[in-house]
Amino acid sequence: MSQLTCKKCQSEKYVKSGHTRGQQRYQCKDCGCQFTDTNRRGVHPALKSFAIVLYAYCGVSMGKIARLYKISTVAVLKWIKAAALEAKPINPVSESDIIMIDEGWHFVNGKKTKYGSGEPLMLPS
Ligand SMILES: [Zn+2]
Repeated sequence: MSQLTCKKCQSEKYVKSGHTRGQQRYQCKDCGCQFTDTNRRGVHPALKSFAIVLYAYCGVSMGKIARLYKISTVAVLKWIKAAALEAKPINPVSESDIIMIDEGWHFVNGKKTKYGSGEPLMLPS
């Protein structure tokens, strides 16, 4: 049997505070929050994060996520907006001294000739 704790501050100090919808209601002595001994409402935070990853990196639409979770599209939109506000802005200036020369190699190979010689470039296979 799990010990009942405050749903806001996890305190174990509470007093009975009447009933609501047939459930015993408690009031936390530390933060004053009122709560009942029921499961938390809503979708688990890990599933919310997974939905955001699906939307942002996998290209799954909000409507598809809403049907998958059996919630409204607006709820998915609110999760994505909240995640976007929490995200740090991307720093366009790199702190490392490493550069990519991949595009340069494509340019050299694309010409099929050695620079200035006019002979075809022989690529190692
Ligand atoms: Zn509390």
